[in-house]
Amino acid sequence: MGKKIKQRILITGGAGFIGSHLCEAFLAQGASVVCVDNLITGARTNIGSFLKEKKFVFLKQDICVPKKIAGPVDAVLHFASLASPPDYLKHSLRTLRVGSTGTENALEVAREKKARFLLASTSEVYGDPLVHPQKESYFGHVNPIGPRSVYDESKRYAEALTMAYHRFYGLNTKIIRIFNTYGERMRPEDGRVIPNFISQSLRQKPLTVYGDGSQTRSYCYIDDLIAGILRALDSDLHTPVNLGNPNEMSVLNLAKVILKATGSKSPLIYKPLPVDDPKQRKPDISLAREALGWQPNIPLEQGLEKTIAYFRTLLCR
Ligand code: UDP
Repeated sequence: MGKKIKQRILITGGAGFIGSHLCEAFLAQGASVVCVDNLITGARTNIGSFLKEKKFVFLKQDICVPKKIAGPVDAVLHFASLASPPDYLKHSLRTLRVGSTGTENALEVAREKKARFLLASTSEVYGDPLVHPQKESYFGHVNPIGPRSVYDESKRYAEALTMAYHRFYGLNTKIIRIFNTYGERMRPEDGRVIPNFISQSLRQKPLTVYGDGSQTRSYCYIDDLIAGILRALDSDLHTPVNLGNPNEMSVLNLAKVILKATGSKSPLIYKPLPVDDPKQRKPDISLAREALGWQPNIPLEQGLEKTIAYFRTLLCR
């Protein structure tokens, strides 16, 4: 703990959903936090409860534009990205830029400051996987020119760049592959399935199921993910590690669980399946278990209860 108190952590995308929870976790450990965010999908309200803390600095800037960061930095955590499919499809070029130029700039800060570096990568590097569940050794099945490629390929490039910095400069890097995560501070208009289904349920609007709803995902609650990220940063593992909850379920089943948890009578309506939407996704987390001693503990019902309470206060304002 004594060592951690002195640490100064730079978090790109620190005003976003995952980034803001990370800022909070480091502040709670006594670290100083520098949060860089251009607020495209991040929001000041996400960092509102600690914005005025002495150990917290917010810089409204784009990591794609290289800028000097004043003072020492012990670790750089690169979370700036557009993570929701509707967001990255709308901001396709920005998404490619933050995965490439943004990652290079963040790596350069780490190199200059002799800091550790952690890349927030994604289960999307596996594309529409032909191997199930997905292990880190699987190279993936990505359409390089499809609409989702702006996200998938930029993250794959970001991984390649991070490994090259590790091999070429000896930078102390880590790569985490984040599977579907949910929790407080997701935006109701985010477009991902859990915020959509919760806000539709609370507004008594139809739940929009894409395709026939048989496609699967595995949902991890934010507090579990944050615990995994902290362990990954402190580990000696330089190759990618999956962080997610292996509790796999179909989108249709998720709709039913959310209807029950909100007590909503909303009907389901079916909409076209987005292009290249992965049919199944479930992390193999053996590596995280062995190398980090980490596994998620919070059941879906419990995480949903907290997330629904958050959305209720947001939507009832
Ligand atoms: N989805 C859905 N209805 C929605 C939003 C998403 O059926 O209103 C589906 C989407 O097609 C995908 C799954 O839910 O199969 C998860 O989508 P999300 O956008 O949350 O994340 P992804 O895993 O696709 O990045």
